[in-house]
Amino acid sequence: MAGGKMGELRLAGHRFDRGPTVLTVPHHIDALFTLCGEDPRAHWRYQRLDPGFHYHFEDGTVVRTWADQDALAEEFATRTGTGHDRMLRFLKRSREKLDITQRVFLERSLHVPRNYLNTSTLSGLLRFGRIEPLTSMARSNAALLQAPKAAAILNQFASYNGANPYQAPATLNLISYFELALGSYHAEGGMYTVARALEDLARRQGVRFHYNTPVERIVVERGRANGVVVGGRMEGFDAVVSNADVLRTWRTLLKDQAAPRTSLAQPRSSSVIVFHWGVGRLHPTLGLHNMFMSGDARREYDRIFRDRTMHDDPSVYVHISSKMNPQDAPAGHENWFTMVSAPNNSGQDWDALVERTRDHVHAKLSRMLGSDIASSITCEAVTDPRTIEALTDSPQGAIYGNSVNGILATLLRHPNFTRRIDNLFFCGGSVHPGASIPLCLFSARITADLVRRRFKA
Ligand SMILES: Cc1cc2nc3c(=O)[nH]c(=O)nc-3n(C[C@H](O)[C@H](O)[C@H](O)COP(=O)(O)OP(=O)(O)OC[C@H]3O[C@@H](n4cnc5c(N)ncnc54)[C@H](O)[C@@H]3O)c2cc1C
Repeated sequence: MAGGKMGELRLAGHRFDRGPTVLTVPHHIDALFTLCGEDPRAHWRYQRLDPGFHYHFEDGTVVRTWADQDALAEEFATRTGTGHDRMLRFLKRSREKLDITQRVFLERSLHVPRNYLNTSTLSGLLRFGRIEPLTSMARSNAALLQAPKAAAILNQFASYNGANPYQAPATLNLISYFELALGSYHAEGGMYTVARALEDLARRQGVRFHYNTPVERIVVERGRANGVVVGGRMEGFDAVVSNADVLRTWRTLLKDQAAPRTSLAQPRSSSVIVFHWGVGRLHPTLGLHNMFMSGDARREYDRIFRDRTMHDDPSVYVHISSKMNPQDAPAGHENWFTMVSAPNNSGQDWDALVERTRDHVHAKLSRMLGSDIASSITCEAVTDPRTIEALTDSPQGAIYGNSVNGILATLLRHPNFTRRIDNLFFCGGSVHPGASIPLCLFSARITADLVRRRFKA
């Protein structure tokens, strides 16, 4: 099945996306079609959401994110008490962070010296202080917004990278810029349509897919990657690009090779528990993306990152794709992708944690929506860190590779190549520049460029 973490699940007449549900910068996906001389609109379609998200607080406050920046700032000012100007300043600062980092490392390998020798990178490096690498997201947002609800909403974007906003540098505030300013989009037919459209595009370009035939080993001879072993047979190639999690690549596929120590020794990012629920009732007040905020987010992050367990009052994300694709659920029903952040798997009793979390999520949603949720659930499938590890071979079920909590995390992320083995490259969410669909596309572009340069006559 195509897609990796961007998978799909079908359950009792419902269709669910298994992984990503939030689509940003769709033109980066379009660019792949254009590059191949095709019209992207002939193969997949999307539309901008307005509002994007609905954030629900325990006191009944609901904050919506609007596509227009003035309307967004006004919504935050009215509902959270932050200043209109403060919110606009947040967006401006995030834009600046994106501008600087995009030139310095999102679009380039950080590990190739010649990449530092151009004016855009050098000017980015000179403005490095502007990305706030030494302040935490939470501290920066509290100081600027002066409104706990606004800060809580903006802090939770750290979870898009499996990070803790109380530890992660405020640089990560650029993540929210993708969604709040550049826009939140809906892929017609659901996110899995994107994976399918890209698979078809690749086939038309001559790519051959071999599903359910894992690579067992990367063959290295005289310091050079020559091919892979699949089903016990060697297949020779000029270059090997591994999109599997980098830890797995070194530990399993290259287990006889000396692995880089520092980048592989970094802590892993967090994971999630997802309840895929068929819900036998329509909820007109809910949108496509709904976030039910924890009453104590600080404690939630402590429980996940310090105590490595689940919080009793988690932030709960409910994505209902049937709001936009009615065919994703039977008439009169909805499909709820109900997700809470979780620690990665280090041997916790997941059966017990899933049971407990389900009870807490039922109670929280029932309380905040004013109706009994448990009694309207008609079917359920559960994804937990063990499932994610089993389905996508990501060690410990970490969704985003290594953690980006520390200041040096970006620098310590594994490069898109290795100086130890020639003709071997790495791409995807576990290596530079990071996880999520937009960053995976940047990663693919950097790697393609490295391969092209390596084989340029
Ligand atoms: C529940 C969830 C929600 C998410 N939400 C969002 C979101 O809303 N927006 C967003 O942008 N991102 C989101 N993400 C993150 C995003 O899905 C990932 O960053 C991205 O999909 C990672 O892609 P990848 O290609 O690096 O890894 P993967 O998708 O994991 O692909 C790696 C592939 O390699 C295969 N593989 C591993 N070992 C081998 C082997 N030996 N031989 C052959 N194949 C192998 C695996 O089976 C897998 O198919 C979410 C992820 C999850 C799990």
